Amino acid sequence: MSSTPPLAQLLLLGQGRDLLSERGVSCTGELPAASDPTLVARAEAAKAALGDRVLILGHHYQRDEVIQFADITGDSFKLAQAAAAQSSAEYIIFCGVHFMAESADILTGPHQKVILPDLAAGCSMADMATAAQVDQCWKDLEALGIASQTVPVTYMNSSAAIKSFTGAHGGTICTSSNAEKSLRWAFNKAEKVLFLPDQHLGRNTAVKDLGLSLDDCVVWNPWKPQGGLTAEEIRAAKMILWRGHCSVHGRFTRQSIDDFRTRIPEVKIIVHPECQHEVVTAADEVGSTERIIRVVSESAPGTQWAVGTELNLVGRLAADNPDKSVYFLDRTVCYCSTMNRIDLPHLVWALESLVSGQVVNEIKVDAETARYSKLALEQMLAL
Ligand code: SF4
Repeated sequence: MSSTPPLAQLLLLGQGRDLLSERGVSCTGELPAASDPTLVARAEAAKAALGDRVLILGHHYQRDEVIQFADITGDSFKLAQAAAAQSSAEYIIFCGVHFMAESADILTGPHQKVILPDLAAGCSMADMATAAQVDQCWKDLEALGIASQTVPVTYMNSSAAIKSFTGAHGGTICTSSNAEKSLRWAFNKAEKVLFLPDQHLGRNTAVKDLGLSLDDCVVWNPWKPQGGLTAEEIRAAKMILWRGHCSVHGRFTRQSIDDFRTRIPEVKIIVHPECQHEVVTAADEVGSTERIIRVVSESAPGTQWAVGTELNLVGRLAADNPDKSVYFLDRTVCYCSTMNRIDLPHLVWALESLVSGQVVNEIKVDAETARYSKLALEQMLAL
């Protein structure tokens, strides 16, 4: 697991300050009270007043109270496609996290504004790779004469700055839906892949889908000189995995799977590829959020599933499939706390502000960063 210092320590070190001040940690406006009984009616009225001028995108991990207002729901790949295909809506309210809104801004036209209802909705995984760290890593690879044989493949869950680095160095973005395709594309171009920032998705895809061995993978620790690796280890590796992980999916353990199988022998286990390798190896099925929804929904009535992904999604999956038993794989309740930052008061505030002519919490990626990020994102969409 990652050795990245916790937030408090980052702040002490001064290395988290930029991330927080860029994104903000508190709402800049007057939020309606969460207890206001008219919130649903207010959201409906504001959305109706804006009509086709607004499009609400909702990630699968969002709360029920928010997802009910989404025009399109999906995982980050589907929502990126939706943003790219949508050229008419003036405002796109992104109910998800910061990196998703950045991607939407990059993929939409200059006449469109992307809004994140709460600027503090970040992603701990995306924050595990900063631009300075990744630049230093690439310089180290150049010094070893390895960079020219390496293609960066960057998970969607990354900042625009890291996507821009990827585009500038001939790489591609991937999501959990197309990680295998992305890696195959990259290995056709070069001998090595620098996979950012989720070590688990990189490792699981390389080993499970491409048939590489665990020994072909090394983990680059950005907090250590030369990633904490020897030159020989880097030269021998095919996959250089960034030491990042998802704090939600990283919680699932092999023990949880064993416990479920003991309690319910016929249970099927399905997990997201952001889970640890030993969890993915032990599961019956592995897949992106969209695949998890499809596999569970299409399974035979009476099937029992233990699902290893974010709890909001698992709760909806259970509600939408009353003919099956759907359980959360972990005994501890664990939502993605940053996804949960977007709640109904924030959505109502963003919508009503637009009705009154005020654009709040606009996410804008600077032109230079957007240019190379777009290259990498378009490469993904073309795969
Ligand atoms: S579930 Fe994990 S990867 Fe997704 S937004 Fe939350 S912390 Fe980031």
